[in-house]
Amino acid sequence: ELSAAVMKQWALRINEKMQEHKDKLSELDQAIGDGDHGHNMARGFQEAANKVNDSSYDDIGTMYKDIASTLISKVGGASGPLYGTAFLKAANAWKGRDVLDSEAFTEGIEAAVGGIETRGKASFGDKTMLDVWIPVRDEMKERGVDTEQANKTAAKEAEATIDRVAKKGRASYLGERSKGHMDPGAFSSQLVFEALAEVYK
Ligand code: ADP
Ligand code: MG
Ligand code: MG
Repeated sequence: ELSAAVMKQWALRINEKMQEHKDKLSELDQAIGDGDHGHNMARGFQEAANKVNDSSYDDIGTMYKDIASTLISKVGGASGPLYGTAFLKAANAWKGRDVLDSEAFTEGIEAAVGGIETRGKASFGDKTMLDVWIPVRDEMKERGVDTEQANKTAAKEAEATIDRVAKKGRASYLGERSKGHMDPGAFSSQLVFEALAEVYK
C-alpha cells in the first residue's frame, strides 16, 4: 500500500530526477522541438515540490490536486497542461484517501492516461509521453502495482520512441526527420516511473 508519506516522496523524487536530467531533457527537445522541456519540467516540479513541502496532507487527492494546479499554472508549453491534467485526474481518483492499495493506485494511473489522451488527442505510437504511459497503465491493470516492472517498461518504451515519427506536438512539424531521437516527454515520463520505483518497492 502507498501511504500519503510515500506519495509525497514520489513527488519530491520526481522533482529531483527532473533537476538531475534537466540538460538531457532540453537536449532531446533541441533535436526535435524548441529545447525547453528540461526547463519546463525542472521549473514545474520544483514549484510542485515547494508546494508539497510547505503543506501537510492526509488526503492524497488534495496533495496531487495541488501538484496538478502548480504544473498547470507554472509550466508553459504543451507539457505543463498535459502533466497537470494527468495528475489532476489521478487526484480525483485518489480523493479522500490517505492510503492507496494496488487497485486504487492503478485507478489513478488510468485516470491520468485518460486525461492526457483527452487533452492531447494523441494515441500510442505517436511519439509522445503517452508511448510510455499507455504500456505502463496496461501492465498495471493486468498485474497490479509492480514498480520495478513499471520502471523497466517505461525505460524500454521511451527507448522505442527513437525510431518513431512524431504525429503530435512540435516534433510532428519535422515529419520523418523526427526519427532517430527519443521523445523528450517520453523520457520525462520514464523519470516519473523511475522515481516511483525508488520510493516504493
Ligand atoms: P512544447 O512542445 O510546448 O515546447 P515541452 O517541450 O515541454 O512543450 O513538451 C514536449 C513534449 O510534450 C513532447 O516531447 C511530447 O512528449 C509531449 N506532447 C506534446 N504534444 C502532445 C500531445 N498532443 N499529446 C501528448 N503528449 C504531447
Ligand atoms: Mg519544448
Ligand atoms: Mg516550448
